[in-house]
This record gives sequence, structure tokens and C-alpha cells, in this order.
Amino acid sequence: MKTPSRGYGEGSEHAGWPFGDSFRSHDDLAAHLHQVGQRHARRALKLYTSTDQFEMLDAAFSVGSAVELLAKSLLASVSPTLLLSEPLDVGSILKFSGAKAPGFGRPDAVTVKSIDAGKCIDRLKQLKMSPPWLATDKAVFWLRNGSAHMGVVDQNTLRSAMRPMVRFAEFVREHYDHPSDRWWGPELDELARGIAQAEATQWDEIVQAKIAAAKLRLKELQQSLPAFSTETILKSMSGRSHTSVEHDEDQDCPACGYTGKAIGVILEYGVDADHYDGGVTYYSRMGVTHFECSVCNLELTDELEVSAAGLPTEIDYVDEDYEPAPWPE
Ligand SMILES: [Zn+2]
Repeated sequence: MKTPSRGYGEGSEHAGWPFGDSFRSHDDLAAHLHQVGQRHARRALKLYTSTDQFEMLDAAFSVGSAVELLAKSLLASVSPTLLLSEPLDVGSILKFSGAKAPGFGRPDAVTVKSIDAGKCIDRLKQLKMSPPWLATDKAVFWLRNGSAHMGVVDQNTLRSAMRPMVRFAEFVREHYDHPSDRWWGPELDELARGIAQAEATQWDEIVQAKIAAAKLRLKELQQSLPAFSTETILKSMSGRSHTSVEHDEDQDCPACGYTGKAIGVILEYGVDADHYDGGVTYYSRMGVTHFECSVCNLELTDELEVSAAGLPTEIDYVDEDYEPAPWPE
């Protein structure tokens, strides 16, 4: 991601988004969001261990703003219109598309409505441009809101929010192909990479422990069954799940090898279609949030664990229920 160009004066045709006493151009929006998000990421990292409450408040504000602005930069790098929120209004559509209408005064950049942080993550997931992001990672936004709206901050929540923030920032940094020492700065670089590594190691350890325990359970189960029918019984136990989200698909268990269930939410309906003589087969895409095996009882309870176990976090499947909307008459 390039550095945004220097500001334009108010009368310039390139004056798009105000930044201090000048304006940044519409073409620079993704670079602008990236630069400001990066600044918040560095500030959060610098201040989060402070014992001064006011510095902790600044860190709490920055931790959420870093993720939101970096997420918006990724969306804007595809198209700024991906930042539009419902309900749509003419001013916001013109502003985010960069279009001009002669009869409409210049939309005010400060009052246009952009999507909220959670929706940014949803859109990035649809675009396959998001790192693993758990339901509990929303804490980074609650933290920011608490500091912005009520001036409150909790030290433990702040500390635990650093891992998802760094995970997200590292994903963006790598996506834009920026060297780590330049992105974080030489003082924070090692710390940022240390936090990212500690998180990956923690997840690996948890998943390895879960798999080892599941293998042990399988062994005990096999020993308790009559030898001649062990295989038949274990097979009949496989392929069930007790958690119900939106969809599940068969998936080989990484611990016992029998059929387990990948469970998750539908990211996209009708992503693909196969046309053949007899009709059309539609595929939809599931984002995997759980894995369960009813033979060895292995349970992976979020996207990071699923990923650390080497299982896919997205699965395209034949969607028999999907019917595309008919063409308008
Ligand atoms: Zn299993």
C-alpha cells in the first residue's frame, strides 16, 4: 500500500477527504485508512501496558480503531463503495463512489455514513480478505466503545485485546507486503511479532492437547468393544454432531480418522454453479466455526482451533436448498 499523497487545497478537484488543514484525494482513501489504522495499532501497542489510566484509555480507543480502520482500508482497496451502510442515501453513495452529480452539492465527508466495524469484518470474510476472527474478538470494539462513549477501560480486557488486534494488523501488513520493522517501527516490531507468535503457539498447544486426549479416548473405546465388531460400531457412531449452527458437512477427524462434522455459518449462497444436461447444481460456501467428532469426541470450538488442526476454514458444498432469484420480467 502506497503512502497517501500530500494534501490538496479545498478548491482542488482532488480534494476528497479532509485531513487537518488540507484534503486527501478519493483515490488515496485506502492508503489514508491504512496509514491512520497503522498509527492506532502502534499507539495501542505502545500504551497498553502503561499504569497510567489515561494512557490505557488511549490504548483502548486505539486497539478498536486500528482494527476498524485497517479493515476499512482493505475494503476500500477493492472499492470504497464497500464501505456504504444501509439505509443508502444519495450523499453517501456519491461520496463513496467518487461520482459527482451537477445538481447535488458536494457531499460532506464528515457526515456520510460508513459501515460499522463488525460489518466490515463480515464483508472481508465474504471477500476472503480476513484473518481468522472469532466471536470473542469483538471485545476490541467494545473496548474502544467503552473508552469513547463512557471513558472507561478495564486493564485485563485491554491486555487480552492485543492478540486479535496484532493478528489483524499482521494480516493487513502481509497483505500489503510491508516489511515488519518498517510497519511497526524498530522499537515495536519484535513485540508485535512476539504477540503474534505467542498466540499461534498457544493455539497449537491447545489443539495438540485436544487431539492427544481424543486419541486416548479412542483407544479406551476400542479396548472396551468386542474385537470382531469394533470397526462396525465405530463407523456407526461417526458423522454425528450435537451443535447446530447453519450448516454442517462431513469432514475426516484429524484425531481418529473417522467421519466428523465441520459446522459453521453460510458465508455465501450460490457461489458457483455447474451446468449439465439434467439441470444446474449450485454450490454455497460455509465458514467453519466448529468441528466435532462423535467417535473420539474431539471438539474444536472456533476458527483458530479448526485452522490449527489443519482443517479447512471454508468449505464449498452442493446446496440443494439454494434457488437463485428469478430474472426480473
Ligand atoms: Zn475423531
